[in-house]
Order: sequence, then C-alpha cells, then structure tokens
Amino acid sequence: KVNFDVESIRKDFPILSRTVNGKPLVYFDNAATSQTPQQVIDAITDYYTRYNANIHRGVHTLSQEATDAYEQARIKIQKHFNAAKAHEIIFTAGTTHAINLVANGFASLLKKGDEIIVSALEHHSNIVPWQMLCERTGAVLKVIPMNEDGSLKMADYEAFLSKKTKLVFVNHVSNALGTVNPIKEIIEKAHSVDAAVLIDGAQAAPHIKADVQELDADFYVVSAHKMCGPTGVGMLYGKEKWLKELPPYQGGGEMIATVTFEKTTYADLPHKFEAGTPNICGGIAFGAALDYMNSIGFDNIAAYEQELLEYATEKLLEIEDLKIYGLSKEKTAVISFNIGEIHPYDIGTIIDKLGIAVRTGHHCAQPVMDFYKIPGTVRASFAFYNTKEEIDIFVEAVKRAKNMLS
Ligand code: PMP
Repeated sequence: KVNFDVESIRKDFPILSRTVNGKPLVYFDNAATSQTPQQVIDAITDYYTRYNANIHRGVHTLSQEATDAYEQARIKIQKHFNAAKAHEIIFTAGTTHAINLVANGFASLLKKGDEIIVSALEHHSNIVPWQMLCERTGAVLKVIPMNEDGSLKMADYEAFLSKKTKLVFVNHVSNALGTVNPIKEIIEKAHSVDAAVLIDGAQAAPHIKADVQELDADFYVVSAHKMCGPTGVGMLYGKEKWLKELPPYQGGGEMIATVTFEKTTYADLPHKFEAGTPNICGGIAFGAALDYMNSIGFDNIAAYEQELLEYATEKLLEIEDLKIYGLSKEKTAVISFNIGEIHPYDIGTIIDKLGIAVRTGHHCAQPVMDFYKIPGTVRASFAFYNTKEEIDIFVEAVKRAKNMLS
C-alpha cells in the first residue's frame, strides 16, 4: 500500500469540494483535462494582480518581471523534461499546436515516396496533421497495427522501417486506452534508419516524468492542461539540430532578427517559433503546475494511481457483461469500457446525474474504436487526487445505470 496523503492533496483543489446535481463531484475525466490546484490559481492571480505586461521588449519594471517569470518557467520545463538547453523548449498553445508546427516544418524536408509511420493508437491530433503533410509532399503514411490488448504490433513496426522512413510519430500513452507504448525501443529502432521521432506525451505527462535525453527523442510534446496547468499552453521540445533546420511555423513579431521589405531574418531559438505575444500567464502557470506536481513526486503519483487503477479494474470487472478495452500490462490510470449493448452516452448521462464526470464517445481516437468495432466507450480516467471511495461511488452508479438501461 502506498503512503499517500490524498486528503491533504484534495484540499489544494477547490473544485473538488463542489457539488454536481446535488451530489459531491466525482471527477474521473482527467484524461480530457486535469483540475487546477490553488497554487496554480494563485500564480495566475498573482500575474494579473502584480505584473501583467508584455514580455521581451519592454525596458520597464513590469515587463522585466513578466519576462523573468516567463523565462524561469521555460527553465522549469527544461529541467522537468531534462532537455539539454532551455532554447530547445518552445512554448506552444498545446499539443495540437506543437504537432502542427513540426508537421509544417517537415513539409519542406520531405519528398514524394518518403515514408511516415504513425500508430493505430493515435489521437486525431497525431493523425490529421501527418495526413495533411502527406497530401502536401506525396509522402506515404504507414500505420503500426495494434493488438486486442491495446499494445502495438512491434514486429510490424520493425518491418516498416527502411531508408525511406523519415519520421515516426507515436504517443507515449494512449488517451483512449491508457496503454504505455515502448517509446525508447521505438525511438532506437527509428534512429537505426535515421528517421526522426516525435513523441506525443500529452497523456503521459500527468503520470510519467519523461527524460527526453535519456529517451533520445527528437521531439516531445505536451499540453499543460493535462498536468494541473491552464488550457491554451503547452510545450514543444525539439533537439537543437532539428529546431535549427525546421523553418518557422508562423511569421510575426518576436520571431525576427531584422525586417525589411526585401528580406527578413529570423530570430534565434526559441523565438524563431514563438511569433506574436504568447500566453504569458499560461506559461508562468505551467511552470507553477510542474512545481506543484514535483512537490508531490511523480514516483508517488504513479504508484498511487496504479493502486486506483487496479482497484477500479477489479471492481468494474465484477459487473456482468462489462468489457474493458485494452487491458495491456503497461498502462496508466485510464479505463475504457462498455456494458453489453448499452450506449456509452446513456451511461455517462445517468451517472452525471449522480455527480460523476466521465467521458463518453470515441475520445478523438476513432481508429481505436474501429479496431474494436464499437462507436465509443465510457472512459474513466483517474488522477492522484482521486480516491478509492470515489471509485466505490462510481461503481455503484454504473451498476445503477446498467439496471436502468437493460
Ligand atoms: N494527444 C493525446 C494523446 C491527447 O490525449 C490529447 C488530448 N486529449 C492530445 C493529443 C491533444 O491535446 P490538446 O487538445 O491539448 O492539443
């Protein structure tokens, strides 16, 4: 049993004490977005209360304070993911923005017949930008198939790799099923044919502290809102050599060295990829969120969440006709399930009346649903501030919904 003072952690999250439909909120939609601790809310309030100003250009005190705080946040992110250099961290609007930035950059590096590999487990944001890139360049998209348990068919992946492979894109953790993919092995194999690898860490980041140098990832992307931070901000980590090689994504202020109508030269990293006034407060709050999560410790978080996952899996499987999709050995605290022929939406609607928030539908991973030949699932996803008592309430609510609907 993990020694984890969840009751004191819950006090940091004001939203957890609200009620929904007259019942205490049970928030099990953490894979869509996580809740925000007071420490992060305070960082946001502090910014707008004391030093709201535009960054990088001002000589005045407020601008310098805001610039310092924003650049400090970049360093916190660098340290957290163990990037070699702070300028390898590019602030983005989130995972989707980061992926599009990289896909757009590769449009000028790829040619017809080059190959791009993605996995069957991807979120739409790690499928559609590559399809668009293939349309623009004539590159070919290959998809690593998946097994019934939600793991990837690694032998097929190896068979795909050749001198034609230029890029590989895989999520670290699947948001639809919770599967943890063997990304170190995936990266190593891609590098053996000199392909670059982008890891979508959106769903991994709240549970696993990734070390980009140890992984040797070429790109690693996350959204702050999945890890106790605000929406509308995220990170692109890129190896310096790639960020130097890729062209800028957007033009505008902040990203230039000199501008004349004859020729513009681009600013150095990271500014080359950060056109316009960024989400300053969001970046600072992202740093505060990392401080908060690190103060609890990712090893503690992972061990506690694993306990919640095992407990909930066992309890749910006691319900007759309940099927959990993707019961792989390596997974984080996500449970995707259906009961017989009952539509997931109906279960979600009934348990919302009982104060419980889960996600229903395809979870932006339609190919995963197609694999199981289902329109969607009910997805319960846990965070370190959830409890076994909440799981008990949830399981009883699911049983009630089942009785009402069958
Ligand atoms: N990839 C994965 C694995 C995700 O879980 C998500 C968010 N659900 C995304 C990408 C997209 O993230 P965002 O919407 O924050 O850009």
